[in-house]
Amino acid sequence: MDFESYIRDIEDFPKPGIVFKDITPLLKDPKALHKACNVLCEMVGDQKVDKVVGVDSRGFIFAPLIASKLNAGFVPVRKKGKLPYSTVSESYKLEYGEDIVEIHTDAILKGEKVVVHDDVLATGGTASAVCKLVEKLGGEVIQCNFLIQLTFLNGSDKLNEYRIKSLLQY
Ligand code: IMP
Repeated sequence: MDFESYIRDIEDFPKPGIVFKDITPLLKDPKALHKACNVLCEMVGDQKVDKVVGVDSRGFIFAPLIASKLNAGFVPVRKKGKLPYSTVSESYKLEYGEDIVEIHTDAILKGEKVVVHDDVLATGGTASAVCKLVEKLGGEVIQCNFLIQLTFLNGSDKLNEYRIKSLLQY
């Protein structure tokens, strides 16, 4: 399937100079949605997976679908202050300032095999912080799994200790 034809470029969103990859045309098409979910699962292969971690907020679209198909649990990682139970946090640098992501302390057990999923890998700052959260709880990141990888932003450099897979590369 030509997944690329379902991804729309939005210029100057959310800020001037940024070309945003909009995945909603793919999501609203039943065949493209179904097939994308299957391919994201195939990217994981036969590895045993205990948890699929989805990243706030567009990572929450596919991560639970992938988890369900792989017979794994789904775990949300959220921006600071959104999770109700006790959390561990990790901060990461943005172009200007920093952001903080959090995970529930009981979300992952020691030794569990974890797939981290987000819609887009850009600079890698977010995914790298999410992997650190998983490791703080004793989980093992067996794959970082993305719908889209913006290769020109070199996000894979920040994730060089992990196995990275993406359905589409730009
Ligand atoms: P990074 O931390 O620079 O790798 O940015 C990744 C995060 O920003 C992910 O959570 C994405 O959802 C979001 N993101 C960055 N660029 C885009 C885009 O073009 N489309 C959709 N989300 C994006």
